[in-house]
Amino acid sequence: MVSKVMVNFSAHDSTNEMYNRAKELGLDTIFDRHQAQQPQCGFGMQGICCQLCSHGPCRITHLAKRGICGATADTIVARNMVRLAVHGAAAYSHRLKGRRGGRAEDD
Ligand code: SF4
Repeated sequence: MVSKVMVNFSAHDSTNEMYNRAKELGLDTIFDRHQAQQPQCGFGMQGICCQLCSHGPCRITHLAKRGICGATADTIVARNMVRLAVHGAAAYSHRLKGRRGGRAEDD
């Protein structure tokens, strides 16, 4: 009998169970894809990479304290944060329908 090697990625047993079932089925998961991306880009992790326009991407370093347009690290981080928040809100805008008087089942 082959023993199963259970992997725990999460504090939630149900998530670990689903992960291990996905592995049995030969499927990759967010955990596998995250691992495959290591090490992740340090500029991206700090939010100091900008791809807002076609002059970029620009990265802030100790030698390049501004993007080509003159944006500082603070500007780039703030713009990235606002854009991520707006993208996230827009991705769930369909849920607003239920909040303005419609039924949740209509979503
Ligand atoms: S820092 Fe400025 S120039 Fe560079 S990609 Fe962003 S917007 Fe374009």
